[in-house]
Amino acid sequence: MTVAQWSVAQGSVAQWSVVRWSHCAAITWLLLVTAGTSLAASMDDLLRAYPDALAGFNGVDLIWRDDKSMAEQLRHGSILDQLRLAYPAGGMLLPAPQQDPGRVRNRAFFDKMYGDCRRGQVTPRLVPVVWLPRTWGHVVSITSVNGVDRQLAAISRELDELPAAAKKYLYPPGGTYVCRHVADTGQTSMHGWGAAIDINPGFADYWRWHRPAGDAGTYVNRIPLEIVGVFERHGFIWGGNWGHFDTMHFEYRPELLDFGMEKQRTH
Ligand SMILES: [Zn+2]
Repeated sequence: MTVAQWSVAQGSVAQWSVVRWSHCAAITWLLLVTAGTSLAASMDDLLRAYPDALAGFNGVDLIWRDDKSMAEQLRHGSILDQLRLAYPAGGMLLPAPQQDPGRVRNRAFFDKMYGDCRRGQVTPRLVPVVWLPRTWGHVVSITSVNGVDRQLAAISRELDELPAAAKKYLYPPGGTYVCRHVADTGQTSMHGWGAAIDINPGFADYWRWHRPAGDAGTYVNRIPLEIVGVFERHGFIWGGNWGHFDTMHFEYRPELLDFGMEKQRTH
């Protein structure tokens, strides 16, 4: 079953999203193939002609007035919503307030992949990994599905080679598996699927702690980007790249990194 077919099978919201995406793709293609040639009408003309339907153009895609907001995507994310925002590997120190690449997760997709923790399906698949064997040396639990445990073990060994000044950010870790919901969205956290780790909470910054007013807070981060790079090379994205930042958080999302492509090519 293709991603699109699977997404359609998940219900009307996902189905609508596929239809909308195909419209956007068609229009974007039309714009690309006509780029450089003279046009009878401008993009502004198009926006003016359909003010009830079109909200704008971001240079790549049309923005439709019925596009799902980020808040709605976080609560009812489809597979396509999950892939919509590009993840900036290598660290982006000032993410836009409403840009959370990777924070949208389709619950049905990940329940199928890792199990539903509320039904006791995740814990049988958890295995121990020694975190920083030469430095901290205690066990954390992580899912064995998709070889996430092997990737975390490789991360652990690699991070253990860093100087002490960098390793202080890594231990004691805040935790890995816990069956819980994300506070503001009510959706399952990647921790609930056993595929996430929080490093030392003593150096963590979280958007809710830096929120003088309004939704997203002032961006703060103390985690060195060399640590982020090690995780990303092994398929984990960083919560510090979210407008709703969570700088101690890393989760296994290889589809958002080149890592996924490399792995596919070598198997
Ligand atoms: Zn976390």
